[in-house]
Amino acid sequence: SIMPASLSAISNGARHGILFKGGAHLENLSNLKAIAFDKTGTLTRGKPVVTDFLTSEDEADTLQVVASIENQSNHPLAQAIVKHARSEGIQLTQPDSLEDISGWGVKAVMDGSEWKIGKADFMGTAASNFMDGRYETLASEGKTTVFVERDGVIIALIALKDVVRKETVDALKLLADEGVETIMLTGDNEKTARAIAQESGVSSFIAECLPETKVDELKLLKQDFGTVAMVGDGINDAPALATANVGIAMGEGTDVALETADVVLMKNDLTRIAEAIKLSKRMKRIVQ
Ligand code: ADP
Ligand code: MG
Repeated sequence: SIMPASLSAISNGARHGILFKGGAHLENLSNLKAIAFDKTGTLTRGKPVVTDFLTSEDEADTLQVVASIENQSNHPLAQAIVKHARSEGIQLTQPDSLEDISGWGVKAVMDGSEWKIGKADFMGTAASNFMDGRYETLASEGKTTVFVERDGVIIALIALKDVVRKETVDALKLLADEGVETIMLTGDNEKTARAIAQESGVSSFIAECLPETKVDELKLLKQDFGTVAMVGDGINDAPALATANVGIAMGEGTDVALETADVVLMKNDLTRIAEAIKLSKRMKRIVQ
């Protein structure tokens, strides 16, 4: 049952850009010990830009095929690669077949070859050795790296940089002040994850998470901490949002994330989470 104190707290939250789908969620926030954050689109703006395109083949030809394949995927990295190709005046064509493998990359047949575009572990060969291990430097700069394999041979490495949201650093500091542990979950590699974790100020991070393992990580966090929230924006965050004690969606997130979440940050403003926690602690004092 919703008590008057929580009703007024909910409307107070709404005025401050936080939507609660019920009083129980607000109460849970007062006991919160840890918050898990998705990286891309949550701690970062989720609009990556291609910064480096390294290839052993003809650059324009390679980019033409890669962008034509990625044009069939709606992953933010794919969209960034397409945008980059268009800005270079490249005309896109249709691949013969395509398979989008969530959390790994895409596979396609085009121009009589088999292509794989995605993370290092998705490639059939030791991708990390490409061009004397250039990916290491790129990753340590916080860039996401994407490899391109043609008929079993790595022929390109693409680096993309996403920026940490301007509110992220403040938001995480405010949460630390409330005694809340912050953990970043990402499908990205260890090096890139470490750089973004340092830039944003999360207390810890878990890299190379597959969409399905985010749920397992949340279950473990609940065992370790007790009451845990999850903040995310994507379709693949929905199962983790549902597993958390409090699921928090970014207002500009996908419909599935908004539907699954218990709380919505209407203006994507992460600093509101700490305010909501304060609000819930105040409410608890009034009720008791
Ligand atoms: P995150 O959890 O950081 O949002 P994802 O789980 O969506 O990341 O993807 C993990 C990794 O898989 C990416 O960093 C990228 O290397 C690779 N990947 C996934 N989908 C694609 C794609 N369409 N094109 C290129 N790489 C991809
Ligand atoms: Mg995301």
